[in-house]
Amino acid sequence: MRRCIARELVEKNGVDADQLVTMLVRAAASEWSNYYFYTILRVDLLGAEGEALKQILEDVRREDLNHFEALVPRIYELGGQLPATALEINAQQKTVMANFAADPSDTRALIEYLLKAAEFSVRCYTDICNYTSGKDNRTYALALAILHEEIEHQVWFLEFLGHGAHERALRDERGRSPFVSKFLRPNLPPATVVGAC
Ligand code: ZN
Repeated sequence: MRRCIARELVEKNGVDADQLVTMLVRAAASEWSNYYFYTILRVDLLGAEGEALKQILEDVRREDLNHFEALVPRIYELGGQLPATALEINAQQKTVMANFAADPSDTRALIEYLLKAAEFSVRCYTDICNYTSGKDNRTYALALAILHEEIEHQVWFLEFLGHGAHERALRDERGRSPFVSKFLRPNLPPATVVGAC
């Protein structure tokens, strides 16, 4: 991987930068994969229950896209990179949603699968927080912000499963990443960040 200041600093603090980049690429691949499959899934959701789940998926998929975009600059700052094509992302990373096997018209089976993807994300960011705590403040803060939102996604799915959409806990900013938005730099493409490294 490329040498750069961010990478040297985290290594000085005892972080294996290659291992950290691998964790971040896996997380980013999963976010992208979720966004892609949630976009498609919305088309197959029918009926009152399907419509209610569609709204949750819309909020989750928007935030997952934000998570992807927030992770990419940090991966490049650390000298890493994403697979060259979208197809390679799923092939290399074996994301949960890339192996989706439920019938989309069976809402209950579908939600179990969505919960699996949410649990994977919670585990993934918990691991990154544990790995970087006290050693890489920037990655830790980013992973913790995403973790907050992933736990909320899990709660939204669980509430839907238990009580139906009408009792779903609402937050005003749903779909707008209240924790992660401060890490998003919409006018700064990843290529500019690479150059700064
Ligand atoms: Zn996410």
